[in-house]
Amino acid sequence: MCQEEKKCKECKECTGCPECKIDDSGVFQQDCEKCQNCKDCENCKDCEKQNRQEKCNQCKGNMHDRSDFKVIKTRLEEGNKRFRENTPIHPNQSRKRRECTAKKGQKPFAIVLSCADSRVPPELVFDTGIADLFVVRVAGNIANISSIASIEFAVAALGCRYILVLGHEGCGAVKAAMSKDPAPSDNLSQLVGHILPAVNACKCSCKAENDDYYTIAEGEKEPLKKVTIENVFHSANELTRCSEIIRNAVNSGNVKIQPAYYNLGKGKVDFDIKSEC
Ligand SMILES: [Zn+2]
Repeated sequence: MCQEEKKCKECKECTGCPECKIDDSGVFQQDCEKCQNCKDCENCKDCEKQNRQEKCNQCKGNMHDRSDFKVIKTRLEEGNKRFRENTPIHPNQSRKRRECTAKKGQKPFAIVLSCADSRVPPELVFDTGIADLFVVRVAGNIANISSIASIEFAVAALGCRYILVLGHEGCGAVKAAMSKDPAPSDNLSQLVGHILPAVNACKCSCKAENDDYYTIAEGEKEPLKKVTIENVFHSANELTRCSEIIRNAVNSGNVKIQPAYYNLGKGKVDFDIKSEC
């Protein structure tokens, strides 16, 4: 039976759940009192035994909230703040977290569509751990069949409701799309083709001659950033245009797509970006 002093500070109902052991920063401090071995886990065994699964998940939702877009965004912002200020807590990376999620499955709180660039690892940039983020990485963070299908899976099968489309400073794929030189292979040409709509949109606003565009982009950082951000919005639009699952989820308010831009050197993710092209 729940004892008053042991009631979960979040759900106020169940005791012994992992949530009771979470401190203000959202980190598990110790094992669950009841099952003793579910530290960092998604589902407390004992709570589950006592048919408290729902309540535990309710508690869990306060930390791993997958329903409130603001809470998810705040969690990402706070993780990024820890990362860039060099104070990461590396949550959810314990052996028990690994074992528990292997057994119980994954419930990532956000999807991230980001570039394959080795300087942009979302799990590190947002100071997250195992089963926290469903990360889809492809050069230029483009929305192609593979990335869209992966995101559809996360939405439809895993219940993810928040999609972050993350562009970044100095993106080689965007540079390649802005280059007058042809791509060195058909595969790369196809990939770059996904970014061309953003390039073309910005060309108009930049008023540059086609051949001069990359020169301008190299000489000044702004055009590259502009196209990169435009490409983020283009990818976000493509997710809804090309996927009925994502489109329906967004239109019904069940899923939010958030554009963002990562500054390599500063380590900061800017959520407040706007399309200028
Ligand atoms: Zn890139």
